[in-house]
Amino acid sequence: MAQIKDPKATEVWEPVPRIVDPGNASKAPSDAIVLFDGTNLNEWQHRDGKSAQWIVKDGYMEVKENSGDIMSKRKFGDIQLHVEWSTPSKIVGEGQGRGNSGVYLQERYEIQVLDSYNNTTYPNGQAGALYKQSIPLVNATVGPGEWNVYDIIFKAPVFNKDGHKVSPGYITVLHNGVLIQNHVEIKGTTQYIGLPKNPAHGDGSIMLQYHGNPLRFRNVWVREL
Ligand code: MG
Repeated sequence: MAQIKDPKATEVWEPVPRIVDPGNASKAPSDAIVLFDGTNLNEWQHRDGKSAQWIVKDGYMEVKENSGDIMSKRKFGDIQLHVEWSTPSKIVGEGQGRGNSGVYLQERYEIQVLDSYNNTTYPNGQAGALYKQSIPLVNATVGPGEWNVYDIIFKAPVFNKDGHKVSPGYITVLHNGVLIQNHVEIKGTTQYIGLPKNPAHGDGSIMLQYHGNPLRFRNVWVREL
């Protein structure tokens, strides 16, 4: 290779990144799919397809007693996901029983949501854990009743037509702007009991977990990657 002397020779002019309005704390980026803007649960349903029964109030949704998980009607592959959550200001229970919910990618990979502010539990099950697989790098949880922010970058696993996983999933998570999961390989489903499983699947819903505690969520949006 001849030595390059012209700085212009290494300038790349295509493709030009398209323009996106980045939004702000209360507004999603212009190219995001908004799944919850504080007004309704039209984008959500329960596992059985029934309309989502969680409570919508003052710009947030709240887990309703005896209701169940809610799932996005849309299914996704690789995404950037923004979700804000708040655990009950009145502390009830301890460990896994205190402010438990979860953000699931493709219905099977849980990033734990828990009141992990001065609350001891197994670290691979605390807030920000890839449940039972990866302990968060730090604990960035704010106190009960305050708003936490998750920004999640998810690369979905790939399965071939015989059902073999040919490329693992990966997850990166920022919790309140702090990196807590750094391109972590997903070993499979996040099981409560036992080891991760790897049944083949395609795109899946984002799921918010019902765990009996009245968690609140707001500003849920997705960018497909
Ligand atoms: Mg959970």
